[in-house]
Amino acid sequence: SNETLDDYTNVDVCVIGGGFTGVSSAINLSKKGYSVALCEARQIGWGASGRNGGQLGIGMRKDQNTIETTLGFDHARELWNLGLESVTECINLIKENNIACGLQKGLLDAGYFAKDKEDFLFKIEHMQKNYNFEGYEFINQKQIKEEINCKLYSSGLLNNFSYHLNPLKFLIGLARLLIKYKVKVYENTPVTNIVEAGDNVKIYSNKKIIKANKVVVGCNGYLDKLLGKINNNFMPINNYMIATEPLGEKTAGDIIKNNYAICDTRFIIDYYRFSEDWRMIFGGGETYSSKFLNNSKNFVLNRMYKVFPMLKGYKIEYSWGGTLAVTVNRLPDFGTLMNNKLLYAQGYSGHGLSLSTFAGKLIAEKIDGFNERFDLFSKINHLSIPGGSLVRRPIYSTAIFYYKLRDLLF
Ligand SMILES: Cc1cc2nc3c(=O)[nH]c(=O)nc-3n(C[C@H](O)[C@H](O)[C@H](O)COP(=O)(O)OP(=O)(O)OC[C@H]3O[C@@H](n4cnc5c(N)ncnc54)[C@H](O)[C@@H]3O)c2cc1C
Repeated sequence: SNETLDDYTNVDVCVIGGGFTGVSSAINLSKKGYSVALCEARQIGWGASGRNGGQLGIGMRKDQNTIETTLGFDHARELWNLGLESVTECINLIKENNIACGLQKGLLDAGYFAKDKEDFLFKIEHMQKNYNFEGYEFINQKQIKEEINCKLYSSGLLNNFSYHLNPLKFLIGLARLLIKYKVKVYENTPVTNIVEAGDNVKIYSNKKIIKANKVVVGCNGYLDKLLGKINNNFMPINNYMIATEPLGEKTAGDIIKNNYAICDTRFIIDYYRFSEDWRMIFGGGETYSSKFLNNSKNFVLNRMYKVFPMLKGYKIEYSWGGTLAVTVNRLPDFGTLMNNKLLYAQGYSGHGLSLSTFAGKLIAEKIDGFNERFDLFSKINHLSIPGGSLVRRPIYSTAIFYYKLRDLLF
């Protein structure tokens, strides 16, 4: 967008952040007739939305039985239904708007530990019995070795209701709708302050002001101090990815037989898939400092070679990283401030492709006076990660160190 902010702009809603949360909020609000301005500090898709692994999964980051223990069965079931709808919503958006983003069906959890078999079988039965859900399929030891050409896994759980896709192409497809629905898009426009002013809110980008009735904040891992202590509700984590040169369909099929996206069961996961042009897109490895790794390519490469030593001869053509927001309970963090004039959604904990797109729909419903579905998320309590960022990063790193060790030992 070439739009630059005037000294003073007036809209119904100002959306901050040009990822899936912000773009989807802007589309859904403008469809309902609100005038909308979207401010993005860099470019649309610059954040995690344009950099992620493209795994479009149902449910939440945690299993249903864990969520039931935390929130009770009824609330957990409502979240499960929203999680299913979030994927359907993405598929409908892709189909209705002819977004060419390499959509493929199937997500396979690859069991790294012997005990995963038991967990997978429990999950299948639990979901059949309590949720009437038949979309999971157990993959035994022989089958997993046929599905993935790798010695590390001993069982699997195939999810036929989840997909994978090229996330940047999906986001660009959605961003085209911003033009269709006449959203004013201001890129390179960092919001520096948000101030409640009577019945309105004033949003500052340096000296320029947007006056709005409502403001939506979708900055996720890049939120920083914009909402004061709200960024204590999650830990910003950097995760890294690489892409090989195109391997061709035959070689790709020898590595992942049915072109599923794969995710392993370790705490620090490996996740990977083939792109539309048959590049291996491999993600894995996290850092918790405020600085990005300089040498992230080798960091991820070492993980990939452990899984697929046969990829050693191929060139790595791209490497990148992004920041995501992880909450303690791994459930998204929705909320309001300034007497409901400010709404935010964040903390998708690595499961945000579908949920952040869907968050935009729930935010628009809430602004339109239909609170119920937004509130199913906003009523979830989140533990604040203690201390300022200087303190909490080391605390979190130490906690993670324990889990990393567990990945290695068991
Ligand atoms: C490497 C990686 C791999 C991932 N893989 C997957 C996956 O396979 N599946 C999955 O479901 N999820 C995955 N995720 C998570 C997923 O990408 C995110 O949950 C989702 O994209 C969040 O979208 P968002 O719009 O909320 O945030 P983002 O896409 O991060 O967008 C936030 C935007 O806000 C902007 N911003 C910040 N501050 C300001 C300000 N003050 N003013 C204006 N703009 C501002 C930023 O520039 C940024 O563009 C992954 C994340 C990463 C980093």
